[in-house]
Amino acid sequence: MRISIVAKPAKTLKPEITCYFLNPDVRYAANVPAALANVNSDANPPVIVPAADRLLLGFNLPVYKYYEEHEARRVAGGSTVRELRRMNKTVATWILDGKFPLEHFTQLVTGALMADYRFLDYKSQKPAQLAKEQLVIVAGANAPAFKRELARLQAIDAGVRVARDLANTPANDLVPLDLADFARRLAKEHGLSFKALSAAQLEKGGYVGLTQVGKGSVHPPVMFTLTYQPKVSNRQAQPLCLVGKGLCFDAGGVNLKPWEGMWNMKADMGGAAAVIGAMKSIALLKPRVEVTAVIGSAINVLDGKAVLPGDILRYRNGRTVEIQNTDAEGRLVLADALLYSQQILKQRRIVDFATLTGACARALGVQYIGLLSRAQGLKADVERAAEISGENTWELPLHPEYRLQLKSSIADVRNIGGAIAGAQTAAWFLHEFIEEKTEYVHLDIAGTFLTEKEDKYWSQAGMTGSGVRLAVALAELSAG
Ligand SMILES: [Zn+2]
Repeated sequence: MRISIVAKPAKTLKPEITCYFLNPDVRYAANVPAALANVNSDANPPVIVPAADRLLLGFNLPVYKYYEEHEARRVAGGSTVRELRRMNKTVATWILDGKFPLEHFTQLVTGALMADYRFLDYKSQKPAQLAKEQLVIVAGANAPAFKRELARLQAIDAGVRVARDLANTPANDLVPLDLADFARRLAKEHGLSFKALSAAQLEKGGYVGLTQVGKGSVHPPVMFTLTYQPKVSNRQAQPLCLVGKGLCFDAGGVNLKPWEGMWNMKADMGGAAAVIGAMKSIALLKPRVEVTAVIGSAINVLDGKAVLPGDILRYRNGRTVEIQNTDAEGRLVLADALLYSQQILKQRRIVDFATLTGACARALGVQYIGLLSRAQGLKADVERAAEISGENTWELPLHPEYRLQLKSSIADVRNIGGAIAGAQTAAWFLHEFIEEKTEYVHLDIAGTFLTEKEDKYWSQAGMTGSGVRLAVALAELSAG
């Protein structure tokens, strides 16, 4: 969808729908048509009123009672796009020439950009009107500020789209080396540096998690990095490291998952997708801080060569891990990525994104990314980034007693902690690989990576790009 911002609409502009956002506390439009202003409806929005040459849509924000206020604005923005398509029309205008905070504009547009996304790579017939879709935002005196903000939001959205495309792509078209190739091309296009460790290099380097998890698949594992180096960096800014879990498919291995929902394990690389997407946005936005992405990617399937329950892995940092469930493979892979980030890349400020535990999804649903951390400073930054981006996080506790659940009788730890507190024991497991001086936040996106239905600003069931907006906001915050 082409989005443009004008102070006043051109005479030649013929919108089929014109959208007004209504809120008694905020004057979004200088003049709201009486037909909409007088509608007193608590019906779910929008209110639709025919005018001479178009339809008027009123999005009455206070009646979005199931959403937080900021989220209601994203939902309203997204709904305008979904309504336009539902009505089979192509040209919409938003009237935003009133006085209101830029933050509200950001939220409305974010929703519209998210709703604009559809994954059509595998549809033999693509809707013809897509190329003609147009949103014109009539902004009066707000136009200059809105134009700058729109460019920023589109840069963030470009990363979200990358993440959604990658996560939506099935495993028969995206294996670990494809993911690495994609990142290599992205790096070339945007002037990032790229480095990959092949399966042989991983094995030689003692990266046992990737090596063992990956050996059940004919498609070899890989670890790769993308680095953004600013031309001028803020000297106070501390480098940021984003780690992504990249399981291009996870059948659970020998401890096979149940069939239901297994298809969506093509997106068990949602964390990697988010981090790669965020690097694209960061390359476009150029914050004054160094950002490095580290991705561990493999496919976890059954095979005669696959890792077995009871196997013991000896990691580079000396820790031994007894595998009791081969479906708890994400943490085995992340452990290598965390060790590489610290030991080789000397990263000290690390946030990982991972579709890690069903426990997190069950506890927090699709509304919150699970956050687990012992690093107060970085945690506060991540929480601030969550607030700015609208990607909610909720902290789950790292009570020290949870660690007892990871005890193994013959190794240092085992890779699962039992039936209860699964998100917390997973996070404690990851902390086995965190050095004293590293600030670390673990983000579990197992509940948020997928929308099962068309809803809110999701125009299609599928992958959400969870984590990209938060990661970009964090990079911007880190730049100071
Ligand atoms: Zn798994």
